[in-house]
Amino acid sequence: MGFKSDIEIAQEAKLKDIREIAKKIGLTEDDLDLYGKYKAKVDYNLMKEGKKGKKAKLILTTAINPTPAGEGKTTTTIGVADALSRLGKKVMVALREPSLGPVFGIKGGAAGGGYAQVVPMEDINLHFTGDIHAIGAANNLLAAMLDNHLHHGNKLGIDTRKITWRRAVDMNDRQLRYITDGLGGKGNGVPREDGFDITVASEVMAAFCLANDITDLKERLGNIIVGYTKDDKPVTARDLNAHGAMAALLKDALKPNLVQTLEGTPAFVHGGPFANIAHGCNSVIATKMAMHFADYVVTEAGFGADLGAEKFLDIKCRMADLEPDAVIIVATVRALKYNGGVPKDKLNEENLEALEKGLPNLLKHIENITKVFNLPAVVAINRFPFDTEAEIDLIRNKCKELGVNVALSEVWAKGGEGGTELAQEVLKLVDEESNLEFAYDVNQSIKDKIRAIAQKVYGADDVAFTKTADKEIEKLESLGFSNLPICMAKTQYSLSDNPHLLGRPEGFNITVRQVKVSAGAGFIVALTGDIMTMPGLPKAPAAEKIDVKEDGTITGLF
Ligand code: ADP
Ligand code: MG
Repeated sequence: MGFKSDIEIAQEAKLKDIREIAKKIGLTEDDLDLYGKYKAKVDYNLMKEGKKGKKAKLILTTAINPTPAGEGKTTTTIGVADALSRLGKKVMVALREPSLGPVFGIKGGAAGGGYAQVVPMEDINLHFTGDIHAIGAANNLLAAMLDNHLHHGNKLGIDTRKITWRRAVDMNDRQLRYITDGLGGKGNGVPREDGFDITVASEVMAAFCLANDITDLKERLGNIIVGYTKDDKPVTARDLNAHGAMAALLKDALKPNLVQTLEGTPAFVHGGPFANIAHGCNSVIATKMAMHFADYVVTEAGFGADLGAEKFLDIKCRMADLEPDAVIIVATVRALKYNGGVPKDKLNEENLEALEKGLPNLLKHIENITKVFNLPAVVAINRFPFDTEAEIDLIRNKCKELGVNVALSEVWAKGGEGGTELAQEVLKLVDEESNLEFAYDVNQSIKDKIRAIAQKVYGADDVAFTKTADKEIEKLESLGFSNLPICMAKTQYSLSDNPHLLGRPEGFNITVRQVKVSAGAGFIVALTGDIMTMPGLPKAPAAEKIDVKEDGTITGLF
C-alpha cells in the first residue's frame, strides 16, 4: 500500500505563523521569544498573569504493553487534541522533545505520525530549540567542576571510586559507555573510570522536567549527588558550587517551546526524560502552562501504563499537584497480537485467536487506571492499515461486554476528523467525578512502596531484593532518603520484569537488583534489570537514510 511517509505529509502541510497559533491561547507577539517563523519559547512567568476562571481538564494518553515499534501514543495525543479543537474546544497538547538517539537509531522521530503530527517535524526531531544540548552542557559543567575539584586537591575528600556522576551527550553512542579519562600525566587531570549517558537519561533532564520554576530547578540541581567520600557521605553539586551556573545555562531552555499540530492546535513540546531511569513525561512547567492557557490539555506518558502512567501519576502528579480528568489507553491490534504471542514479522496477518489471547494485557491496564488509580478511562483502538474489521470488532465487542469505554481512532489516517468518536468519549469522561489515588504513600518504607507498585500495578506475587539492593536501601534510609517516590526501571514489553512474559502474566516475582537515589530529581530509582542509559545504534541506523537537499529540505526522517 502506498502511504505517504510522516515527513512527506509534514512537508506538504501549510504551516501557520506561530504568532497566529499563539493568538489562539491569548498570547501576543510580545509574549513570545521567536525562534524563526514556526517556533517560539514562552516565558513561564506569564502563568502568573491573567487568572483563569475554571480549571483546565487534563487528559493523559497511555498504552498497553507495546511492540518494539511503539503503539501510537503521541499520534493519538495529537489526533484527539485536533478532534477536540474541531469540536470547538480550546485545546493544547503537551509533549516530550525527541532525543537524537532514537531519531538516528531504530525508532525514528517522535512528533506523532500520519495526519496527526506536530510541526515543523524536522526541527522538532533535529535539535529543535537546543534545550537538550543546554541540558547536556549543564550536566557536563558539573562533571568538569567535579574533576577540576579532584585535580586541585580534592578538599571534599571525594572517593574517585565512588563517583556516580557521568558525562552526557545526546547521541546513541555505545563507545562512550565506559571510558577512562584524565590520562596524560599530572597536568591533565586525575585518571579514573568514567562514562557517558545519553542526555535524556541524565538526572539534570529529570530535575528539569519536575521543576516548577528556575529557583526550584536550582534547588534540585544543588541536591544532585555526584559521588561519595571515603566514609560514604554524599557530595552534592551544591558542595561544588555548581548549581547556580548550571541553572544559568538552563534559563532559556526552561521556557516551553510552542509549535502547532498539522491542524493548527497549539502544542508545547518541552523536556524529554527517559521513561526507564526517569519518569518519562514532558516538563511540569509545560503541562501547567498549557493548563493555564487552554481549557483542555492532552499529554502523554512514555511506554505502557504500567511504567509511564504509573510514574506520571505517582511521581509527576504527586510532586506538581496535578490530576488527570480522563485517561486514554491506546491499544492496537498489532500490540494485542504481539501480547498474544505473534512474532514481530507476522503482525500484519489477521489472527483473531492471538488477538483474543492478548486481550488480558489490555484488561489489566484498564483495571490499573480505573481501580488502582481510580480514574475514568477509555480505550482508543489506534487503527493501523492492516487491521481487519473482524479484529477491530473483536476488541470493541470485548470492551463493551465488560462495560469498558472504547472508541476507534483513525487519526493517523484522517487527522482530527478520525478522532471524533474518541474526543466525544473523552468529553463525557472529564465531567465524571474522579479522585486520583496513588499506588503508595510516600511515607511507607522504600521496600513497601516498591512492593505496592509490583503487586497492585504489575500483578506480581512479591518482590525479591538482591543483597546489593538490600544494602543500598539501608544506606539510603540512613541518609534520610526514605520519603521519596519510587521511579521503577523495568522492561516496557511486559507487566513483569521479564520482556518475554507477554499478555497478563501471573504467579511471578519482581527482582530489584539495584536501588539508587536521584536526589536532584527527587525520586528513588529501583532497577529490575540491566537498564541502558547509553543506547547503541542498530546495524542499519535510521541515520543512513536521512539527508538534506541544496534548499535545506530534510529527507528520510520518518
Ligand atoms: P508512541 O508514542 O506510542 O511511541 P508514536 O505515536 O510515536 O508511538 O507512533 C510510533 C510510530 O507508529 C510512528 O512512526 C507512527 O507514524 C506510527 N503509527 C502510529 N499510529 C499509526 C497507525 N494508526 N497506522 C500506521 N502507523 C502508525
Ligand atoms: Mg510517544
